Amino acid sequence: MEPGGDDLIRCSFCGRTAHEVASMVAGPDPAQVYICDGCIHHASGIVQGDLVAYTPPQPAPRRASRPRHRLTPRELKTALDEHVIGQDRAKRALSVAVYNHYKRLEAEDYLHEYDEVEIEKSNILLIGPTGTGKTLLARTLATILDVPFSIADATALTEAGYVGEDVESILSHLLQSADFNVERAERGIIYIDEIDKLARKGDNASITRDVSGEGVQQALLKMLEGTIAGVPPKGGRKHPEQSLISFDTRNVLFIVGGAFDGLGEIIARRLSASQIGFQSDPTLKRLDKRDPAIFRHIEPDDLLQFGLIPEFVGRLPVTASLDGLTDDEMRRILVDPKNAIVRQYQKLFAMDGVDLLFEPGALDAVVAKARMLGTGARGLRSVMEGAMLDLMFDAPERVGIGAVRLTADFVHGQAGPLYEERKASA
Ligand code: ADP
Repeated sequence: MEPGGDDLIRCSFCGRTAHEVASMVAGPDPAQVYICDGCIHHASGIVQGDLVAYTPPQPAPRRASRPRHRLTPRELKTALDEHVIGQDRAKRALSVAVYNHYKRLEAEDYLHEYDEVEIEKSNILLIGPTGTGKTLLARTLATILDVPFSIADATALTEAGYVGEDVESILSHLLQSADFNVERAERGIIYIDEIDKLARKGDNASITRDVSGEGVQQALLKMLEGTIAGVPPKGGRKHPEQSLISFDTRNVLFIVGGAFDGLGEIIARRLSASQIGFQSDPTLKRLDKRDPAIFRHIEPDDLLQFGLIPEFVGRLPVTASLDGLTDDEMRRILVDPKNAIVRQYQKLFAMDGVDLLFEPGALDAVVAKARMLGTGARGLRSVMEGAMLDLMFDAPERVGIGAVRLTADFVHGQAGPLYEERKASA
């Protein structure tokens, strides 16, 4: 039998799971017993008289706060699908990177025969327009994996010695979110937003950040790669007589993200310069440099051109680009995710015994208004809040209301909501 992806399949002799062994053999159907290759080897040794007694190999030592990393990439993606709409390619890339990251952590505990092979850390770069789900993806992953999570803003960071936050402050935040459990924090996820703003000023006119951005990239290098950092327990700046917590960043997964305005032009320029690319692939000819789809063709050189330093790019081996959201995806964001905005409002009204009904046209109108804000799905919430405010103010005083129906005109502010009386219960 192939070692399946199912965690529950364990060797009946040594207790290792299918993931921890090279292969597993199942007993007769319905299979309730399994034996792994290691135990077969031992058992055959006994039968042939080579081994005196059978000593089952010990299961890999387990750490107290081991995160739930056993989900396969497909399971991870399915879990992401419950919260994040669209962005299929980014989800796949993330799922594989995260699966490998936590597998790499495990490699310390077993697979000693591969000791000389060191699996590199797979920090991740997410590129895509604002409000398309970069932060949401990182946050959702942490929730799924049940590991501590924190968000940092690259623009707030400075090199040591300047006004602003030290890069170590990022680790303080993670420590706080792990309730100061250092071991747990050391396996957490950190999302650093607006990483593109650290680009060194180059030829590219759209980059406004001055050269100190490069200093922050330098300061982040060690942390991304893995170092023992001294972290002020309460965050803020380090000062001399403070006792620092030593924090090993080797197993922290860093996800960095940004909109990378202007990167599309760099990619388009490179693609058009390489005759082969453009001529052999007609879809490339149609690519608009402002369309986020162009990010799919990104190469590390483009990031260097943009102003990231080579060492920094080198520490972000996984790049995933996010697409701009379509109208349909925006509409689904309103209603589909477990915590969707529409569901939240419906719950609030349901607590007063009122059904809140959105006509399809009302949802389309929210999407259309949000588009005009140019902040991706982030605009959906502000449009919705604007539309709902008066209704939330008035509705609690209306008696005998069973349902409120919202139309496109309501969202556009051209009509009030339609109230429906509560039906007399039989
Ligand atoms: P950014 O790409 O700028 O990091 P965020 O992930 O912070 O964007 O998204 C802002 C908000 O918009 C999120 O809190 C979420 O409610 C919503 N959102 C954005 N993209 C998606 C998506 N693909 N699926 C579901 N919700 C989304």
